[in-house]
Amino acid sequence: MTKYIFITGGVVSSLGKGIIGASLGKLLRARGFSVAIQKFDPYINVDPGTMSPFQHGEVFVTDDGAETDLDLGHYERFIDTNFSQISNVTSGSVYQTVIQKERRGDYLGATVQVIPHITNEIKSRLVKAQKHFKPDFQIIEIGGTIGDIEGLPFIESIRQFKTEVGIGNAINIHCTLLPYLPTSGELKTKPSQHSVNVLRSYGLQPEILVCRTSKPIPKTEKDKLALFCSVSKEAVIECRDMKSIYEVPLALEEQNFADVVLKLLQVPERKADLDGWRELVDKINHPKGNVKIAIAGKYTKLSDAYISVVESIKHAGYADNVKTEIKWINSEECLDGGKCKELLADVDGVIVPGGFGIRGIEGKLNVIKYARENNIPFLGICLGMQCAVIEYARNVAGLKGANSTEFDENAQYPVIDLMIEQKNIKGYGGTMRLGAYDCHLKKGTKAHEVYGANKISERHRHRYEVNTDYIEQLKKAGLVFSGMSPDGMLSEIVELPDLDWFVACQFHPEFKSRPERPHPLFKGLIDAVIKQKSTKS
Ligand code: GLN
Repeated sequence: MTKYIFITGGVVSSLGKGIIGASLGKLLRARGFSVAIQKFDPYINVDPGTMSPFQHGEVFVTDDGAETDLDLGHYERFIDTNFSQISNVTSGSVYQTVIQKERRGDYLGATVQVIPHITNEIKSRLVKAQKHFKPDFQIIEIGGTIGDIEGLPFIESIRQFKTEVGIGNAINIHCTLLPYLPTSGELKTKPSQHSVNVLRSYGLQPEILVCRTSKPIPKTEKDKLALFCSVSKEAVIECRDMKSIYEVPLALEEQNFADVVLKLLQVPERKADLDGWRELVDKINHPKGNVKIAIAGKYTKLSDAYISVVESIKHAGYADNVKTEIKWINSEECLDGGKCKELLADVDGVIVPGGFGIRGIEGKLNVIKYARENNIPFLGICLGMQCAVIEYARNVAGLKGANSTEFDENAQYPVIDLMIEQKNIKGYGGTMRLGAYDCHLKKGTKAHEVYGANKISERHRHRYEVNTDYIEQLKKAGLVFSGMSPDGMLSEIVELPDLDWFVACQFHPEFKSRPERPHPLFKGLIDAVIKQKSTKS
């Protein structure tokens, strides 16, 4: 029987509930349990696919093509399980379903209300995920902070659901912040007490408190929290700021976090196998070298906008025992060739990630040109691959007016063009080419070598593609098409064989990298960087 773990947050937003939930998932997986997760986001967007990365950070894409909250990325990376459409639920998607049902007449004349119609729909999503994954544990994180008006239907649904499944089958973990007052030298518990009071006013009593803090929590304060919030003393868990997010599961394990969860859910304890994870953390803390990778993109002011790319770089670094430093380069600053050169002077490798729209494109082309001409290991992702193709067309294949029709509908040489199936699509929500598609790799290429496979599957999120009309010309000029869709129509990977590492892909490899199993394309980049550095020194 599936046990349910709800995670709420209080005091402030951005507490890292996702990392706490993902860490618990890891600790349960390490005990041999199966774990599924769901993220409930109270906003009205049907999914985050239409939101600006500046607002919401990265849009994480699942195998089955869901555009989801970036926390799903953390969950996949920590729990090493692929999630799905049903794993991300928003108010928008819940209301959409209920309103569709109302229009169809499904409610037989009833007045459609938040309780019971919206709450029933929310609960049905819980059941749907349970039926799909049949997990031992289902972890459900509720976005936002307790007290938010838009979160109320979700909180009410949890209250009802907890009562329905009964004691011992569902618990609520409440994450809070203990602010530190330097003047009195104290960690304060009052905001946590207040947020638990708010939770209680909705009929929910937390069973566990996870307290974010910058300092160790004295026993007196833990006991106070237990007393005022009606949780057992062992259920007040400290979650200190860590150097790496991958240390969090181990810090929580030391406090028997998962055992407390198991006890409350009436599940017999099991021994955890965390050896591999401990090795990983040891590697993270003892790097043998340092490499600097530039990410040249548009959303560089908010590193969350590229969170999976950042994590993938780190994973590849862990495998190679090096610390990976990231240099954020706003591609708009690279419009000037001299400035671009200056910005790239101290980097060992370059990534041009995905993106949308024309802003900063010419700067990205300058970055790619510089990497190509100076043999700086380069990885282009999605828009980054499209830019690499444009740059090669313009500067090597002699197609001076090459561009993407995304940026110039009347481009002289539209080397990147809208996919045929996209041409008649009008709306923006969920209409891109999304999710996992197969790709065939060409023998003798770098891509084939690093994957060690003839056929791979990778996740996509795009509307444009390399225009097949130009493939022959680009091939003649030296660009190698090392990955193609099974029908041979869509270019998935291009590379330049004479350079140490110049590989670009139409898909998003960053969604499949794991801390203990880096993605081959990121590993290829970091390997090339290290090789270059060792021959130079
Ligand atoms: N804007 C490009 C397209 O739609 C690239 C998308 C991306 O980088 N995710 O094809």
